[in-house]
Amino acid sequence: MRKANRFGAALVIAAVLFLVWKALGYPGNNNGRNVPMPTDLHPVVREKAEELVSIAAKKGITIQLIEGFRTVEEQNRLYAIGRSDGGQIVTYARGGESYHNYGLAVDFALTGKDGSLIWDTDHDMNGNGRRDWEEVGLMAKGMGFEWGGDWERFKDYPHLQMTFGLSISELQRGKRPRERAVADTNEQSG
Ligand SMILES: [Zn+2]
Repeated sequence: MRKANRFGAALVIAAVLFLVWKALGYPGNNNGRNVPMPTDLHPVVREKAEELVSIAAKKGITIQLIEGFRTVEEQNRLYAIGRSDGGQIVTYARGGESYHNYGLAVDFALTGKDGSLIWDTDHDMNGNGRRDWEEVGLMAKGMGFEWGGDWERFKDYPHLQMTFGLSISELQRGKRPRERAVADTNEQSG
């Protein structure tokens, strides 16, 4: 009898500990809803995007970053363009469905000498016979970005995202990359 009581008490303690552990958010599971949305670009994404601008410049391709972090509200406004609002569709992602909403994406644009943005996908300002957009996309991929120019459904040439291995649904459930994930990896590899 005493043994059974002790077992029962142990079960209750275990259950309470589990609930506390879950409420506090155990490692690897941020337990969804109450994880706040990011409010700015991830530091690694910012650093790599800025590095890309200077690497491209060295290859004779001038680009600038035209967009970074985007709130869910801003994303929903973009989603409305070409749907409930007029114009052409500019995105397939609703609020919370874009890496921009988690500070993990930037958009770039080719930039002319006068500072104007160049959208011509055949543009070749360094005259090497290759499309500048594709050259920059390749450079970005070498730095750990995914490039929207590779997408089948909707070619988004300006778009670069760094997922840190996290899907949109994982991000929606509250998972977040570590602040210095890429930098840590780089340190390990020297
Ligand atoms: Zn984008």
